[in-house]
Amino acid sequence: MPYSVSPIGFVRSCFKEKFAIPRQPQLAPAARGVLELLAPFDTGEAVQGLEQVSHVWLLFLFHQALQDQPRLKVRPPRLGGNKSVGVFATRATHRPNGIGQSVVQLDKVEPGKLWLSGIDLLDGTPVLDIKPYVPYADSVASACNRIADGAPLLIEVQWQDAALGQARSHGLRLDQPLVELIEQCLAQDPRPAYQLPPPERRYGTRLWDVDVRWHYPEPGKICVLEVVET
Ligand code: SAM
Repeated sequence: MPYSVSPIGFVRSCFKEKFAIPRQPQLAPAARGVLELLAPFDTGEAVQGLEQVSHVWLLFLFHQALQDQPRLKVRPPRLGGNKSVGVFATRATHRPNGIGQSVVQLDKVEPGKLWLSGIDLLDGTPVLDIKPYVPYADSVASACNRIADGAPLLIEVQWQDAALGQARSHGLRLDQPLVELIEQCLAQDPRPAYQLPPPERRYGTRLWDVDVRWHYPEPGKICVLEVVET
């Protein structure tokens, strides 16, 4: 029997496209956004008390990955993209009902608006529910996951001088930690594992209102080439 749900709000995020969004929350603390609540949740009443909470769970829709036919097996990037496992053993975006969940830092609460950081959500993501993180219940000291047993290994991020200057000045203009955001996201190595990046190949993504371009001067190293307003 189908049940229907409707968004309680939408996230305005630094991530304007899927490529280079970290694969989980907390991996890029400089990734910020605002959850804008819809009526009747926008008056302040529904978030009253939330200022006592440092982190929240967001339940949301992977609105840019919704599919009619649910996949039973997926190939997580974590396993190199060439090994398949059951969808319920992963946090893949293509899943039955397309529901995602992320623990994010709650920086500020205003009527109708929650200011968030450490997010892994695309701009425009519809949010279905917000729940306070409850450390004694949500943090399991004995937990293990042999598929994803630790945060991804980081790679070195270098800058061309001009690109660093551009990122600093756009960061000041936007009043956002843009240099940190770029470094934290690119250090996760967003490239699909099966792609061997020749140095002449350019990669790019959009953060806030800037295009960020980079390449791999050698395997395991990223160099940021330019950061320009879109
Ligand atoms: N933390 C969540 C979870 O475990 O359910 C998301 C994990 S999922 C592996 C993270 C990826 O989802 C990001 O790297 C991004 O590419 C993608 N993503 C984020 N928001 C999305 C959206 N609204 N629609 C489709 N894909 C999205």
